[in-house]
Amino acid sequence: MKRIDLVNKRFGRLVVLAYAGTAKNGNARWTCRCDCGQEVVVDGYRLRHGGTLSCGCYRKEVMREQIRNNAKTRAHIGNAASLLIRDHVNIGAMTAKSRKNRSGVIGVSRDAHSKLWNARLVINGKLVLNKRFAEFDDAVAARRAAEAQYLQPLLEAYAPERLATSDPCQVKKEH
Ligand SMILES: [Zn+2]
Repeated sequence: MKRIDLVNKRFGRLVVLAYAGTAKNGNARWTCRCDCGQEVVVDGYRLRHGGTLSCGCYRKEVMREQIRNNAKTRAHIGNAASLLIRDHVNIGAMTAKSRKNRSGVIGVSRDAHSKLWNARLVINGKLVLNKRFAEFDDAVAARRAAEAQYLQPLLEAYAPERLATSDPCQVKKEH
């Protein structure tokens, strides 16, 4: 099958730099530079069908925007302590993509040895999700499901009325 040359083509925030070999599923992979400066290797099929439009920074911005726009959380924006550390969970660390991450999706990484996709999510220092998948999309789906199950309730727990209740993590307020 002839490969479609995508070099110099733009998809969302990504500009294709070079061909990066063929994935196990037969799809071509491409090294792209994101507008934010990050380089990522992405699946050509996902690129051409709009599945991947940034290095992951767009998704992060959308998530940030959702948190900002959420009436429940708005009261706590600017309060770094309550935003980042909640129930011993560092939300900032969980939602940050590691520098080593090349998949473009937070919590999903390629295992170089097994050639499988690792889907992980750490809550309270515990791995609540640690599974391997042959298909990238399955790993992403598993991470998304775990986020919905574990992370979303924590983000929603920023409600002021909840913070007012007893919380061992809260810094004692002076009266
Ligand atoms: Zn980016």
